[in-house]
Amino acid sequence: MIRLNPSIPWKTRGNGAVVLRILVDQDRIDRILEITRSKSIEYTEVSGRFKYTQPGLVAYIGEITSYHRELYRRALTDVVVPDVALKVAEKTNTLILLDRNNRGNIGALSALGALTTLDEDYTFELLAYRTPEYWGRRTRYLNPESVKKVELKYRDYLFSNYDFDQERVLITPHGPDPVLLGLRGEDPLVLVKAFKEIEVREPILGWTIYRSNQATDAHLVRRDISELRPYQTGYIEGKVLSKPKPVRGGHVVVVIGEDSHTSIEAYFYEPTKTLRNIALKLLPGDQVGLGGSVRPPSSSHPRITFNVEKLVIKTLVTYIEKNPKCPRCGKTMKSAGREKGYKCPRCGYRSTNLEKIKIPLNRNISIGVYTPPLSSMHHLSKPKIRYGRENNGKIPVMISQWHAYMD
Ligand SMILES: [Zn+2]
Repeated sequence: MIRLNPSIPWKTRGNGAVVLRILVDQDRIDRILEITRSKSIEYTEVSGRFKYTQPGLVAYIGEITSYHRELYRRALTDVVVPDVALKVAEKTNTLILLDRNNRGNIGALSALGALTTLDEDYTFELLAYRTPEYWGRRTRYLNPESVKKVELKYRDYLFSNYDFDQERVLITPHGPDPVLLGLRGEDPLVLVKAFKEIEVREPILGWTIYRSNQATDAHLVRRDISELRPYQTGYIEGKVLSKPKPVRGGHVVVVIGEDSHTSIEAYFYEPTKTLRNIALKLLPGDQVGLGGSVRPPSSSHPRITFNVEKLVIKTLVTYIEKNPKCPRCGKTMKSAGREKGYKCPRCGYRSTNLEKIKIPLNRNISIGVYTPPLSSMHHLSKPKIRYGRENNGKIPVMISQWHAYMD
């Protein structure tokens, strides 16, 4: 289950795609394509009762190519126009099985390229589906306490299923779709165990576990501030150049960069709560890293701005420097010019020996990584609990063990 750029305005809500790898004899391929195509059409016709979408379905036979990988990287971190995606399909002989003009094909084509790049880090999500008579109902019938209990019990292997700060269940969608719940974690076996301990009070049609780029920060590629373009996602570093400014709507703006030529206004929006509160405590001179996406210019903002979803404080200014006081009369002195020392504006005393005085600051914030509350994070954003838990290339479960669990 692959998530793509969350800042693209013309996406479906989750901007997601599913890739299935099938090992099969050559002579059965046509039959498989036929089944996937007819099932997809059948499903979109049924689910079309609830919302309008432009589904995509593509198929590729063989080893994933560098064209697919490059398309994935762009769909994850930048804008992909339909022509570019369709060109990749032509070049690689990737088959488009539903209407060519559907936007969903861009996501489907791009997600193919994730297969070989997912090994750096990935997570799993167990999705359980509702029986058709429950489709369309917004309430999911389960015991919230059981979700809280499970998240505590398996906290080394699960994440973002329950928000302990806000006492909120995060596994249930709120729309009319057929998903009952999605349980997120590091290991498929733990997900199965945890799922069985959740008290569900409605019938379950079935469930399946997906490997995913969710919660990995895969979209936060390193970028230079001077090269940012609208709708790109990424991670930038720079110095705080302005005092944080609260603006209408409860947001906070801070100018970040090296100097006025390579700087950008970073917006900490109100829903990021904790993140916005930390941003208010920044001071000019602090070194920070920001993860987020680029907002295009608008009538109120003639330049691009940066929508912050993660803040890394690298260094903090610990003192401010002031000119020395006059040893004769006590007035704050002025610079007498470059390397000419200081001069008292009141009594005229001059000195080349005096130095600036350092006034220590009490900062009340510390160096480290800051993220918003779980409920306002994107699917792709890495929650703090996952730091140090990255899956570097190992599938954490043996297939033999897996079958034992299925009984
Ligand atoms: Zn003086």
